[in-house]
Amino acid sequence: MMAAVTTDRFVQACYELLQPQRFKDYCPNGLQVQGRDQISRIISGVTASQALIEAAIDLKADAIFVHHGLFWRGQSGAVTGWMKKRLAPLLKHDINLIAYHLPLDAHAELGNNAQLAQLWGLLGVSRFGDQDLGVLGVPADGVVSLSANVLIERVSRQLGRTPVQVGGDGRELKKIAWCSGGAQSYFEAAIDAGADVFLTGEMSEPQAHLARETGVLYLACGHHATERYGAQAVAGHLAKQFGLHHQFVDIDNPA
Ligand SMILES: [Zn+2]
Repeated sequence: MMAAVTTDRFVQACYELLQPQRFKDYCPNGLQVQGRDQISRIISGVTASQALIEAAIDLKADAIFVHHGLFWRGQSGAVTGWMKKRLAPLLKHDINLIAYHLPLDAHAELGNNAQLAQLWGLLGVSRFGDQDLGVLGVPADGVVSLSANVLIERVSRQLGRTPVQVGGDGRELKKIAWCSGGAQSYFEAAIDAGADVFLTGEMSEPQAHLARETGVLYLACGHHATERYGAQAVAGHLAKQFGLHHQFVDIDNPA
């Protein structure tokens, strides 16, 4: 028999680990949709899309742990169309949906940014940007700098995709800044913090100009690709703690 934990206990453990009260976020962090009272099987994923919810049903999951939940500030709040198609099967199958956004980016060991540092061979030294979510670091292996080619090759290999790159011509990369997901608005803070390169998920039009004008290399590595690691690290950590079955389900996303 698989071990089980009460949903209350599991949700509390998420709260204690990720400390959402420390963040100003634009979604509810924690239990977004209440399902059954016991959890023994959990799946993790990046986004509570219809495809992920269907996978949870197929895998007989008691809970889904994601980075992007269902509810965001600015939504109409009506449960119609695509929202009904996501919410109705969750309720029908009594599956818990637990979502953590900014606290999951930020967690010092299990968060998206910490996981990216491990993947990319970087060592975080300080923080920058809104709510200190951006990380400023150096190469972890003791070398003073990396060439752009070496960093891009490493990122491409680890994430399975080639980043969009602008600026940084011939620049040696000593101070390396990164922030997972849609953190393009952190670029100016990264420049101010003295970064030679900024890695994030996406790029918008203004950042291309800023990269060219400042010479700071901008690498847009994929929103989904840079946020694949935190949810599975946290869900895996808690599953181990309670002896639960955990599986990460990757629903590919080109963005
Ligand atoms: Zn995101």
